Amino acid sequence: MKARYIPRIDLHDALELKNALPLSTPYVVYIDPCDTCNFRCKFCPSGNTALMKKTRGRCHGPMDYAVYRDIIDSLAEFEEKVRVVRLYKEGEPLLNPRFADMVAYAKTSGNCLRVDTTTNASLLTPERSLEIIEAGLDRLNISVEGVNAEQYREFSSYKLDYERFVENIAFFHAHKKQCEMNIKINGDNLTPAQEEQFYADFGDITDGISVERTIEYWPKYKEMAVTVDEGVSLLGGRSGEVQVCPYVFYEMCINSDGSYSLCRFDWNHAMLLDQHVGGRPTPKKIWDCIALWGFQQRFLRRERKLLSVLSCPSCGILKQGVPEDLDPYAEEILENM
Ligand code: SF4
Repeated sequence: MKARYIPRIDLHDALELKNALPLSTPYVVYIDPCDTCNFRCKFCPSGNTALMKKTRGRCHGPMDYAVYRDIIDSLAEFEEKVRVVRLYKEGEPLLNPRFADMVAYAKTSGNCLRVDTTTNASLLTPERSLEIIEAGLDRLNISVEGVNAEQYREFSSYKLDYERFVENIAFFHAHKKQCEMNIKINGDNLTPAQEEQFYADFGDITDGISVERTIEYWPKYKEMAVTVDEGVSLLGGRSGEVQVCPYVFYEMCINSDGSYSLCRFDWNHAMLLDQHVGGRPTPKKIWDCIALWGFQQRFLRRERKLLSVLSCPSCGILKQGVPEDLDPYAEEILENM
């Protein structure tokens, strides 16, 4: 196998938050190209059509291109360049027909250093691969949901030509130029033989590869039909709960309808920040708004469990998927704020 074992979550360019907070410019800006998905994965609310239809602000579909351009242009208001524009949040990014244009616009804006995305790759035809590579994407993360067509049908309710799917990914890899690639699968659904097959099928057609564990990605999504072992972290180690949510200190998250969520796990848009700024929201107005600073300070005061109107008190991410433990530095950061 040529690929190296590299987790999908790209930490090497981001953190050491304890020495850097508060940030005048977010490290990562998530922008959702499309909040709907062509898969119906059991663990994901976006695949639950009935639920999505009755959830306010969801089933919006592709982001309007003019809205997107305004957002990218507005990133110039920040003091520094955003490290990563991440074209992904809730849905399948390639369902947006202008995905390659979005990449190219962000890349030529001069307002960010890198552009990346996460996709299920089912729509990654050779034609779209060439467009995306030409547009200058810096990193492509692929979520694989099975190692044969039957697993895709069972887990994602999707009819996939698995052999063609692998060929398409190999095509991207062969033509990818500067773009890094990372492929991951959820190992909880695999037998040891299937895990071996995953490495055999994809190990030579990506730069990084990893096997993840199921975690409670979507706070308060009670209809999740999969079992979560809360003792295991995303990357298979032991989990450990923290009180300070690191995500709200370095990421900002923009939904496909142009609204702003407190965090990227806000699948039901229950934690919007738009109403806390006057006039038309921009990324900088949101980042500097007193409401966001208020949330950050409550985390630092270890009051997360008192945020009763939000998903934060019972958030599984803070048990199983934390990139950096800020708890020991909370007082110092609070003082710096
Ligand atoms: S605690 Fe969880 S739900 Fe709350 S902002 Fe952090 S990641 Fe989001």
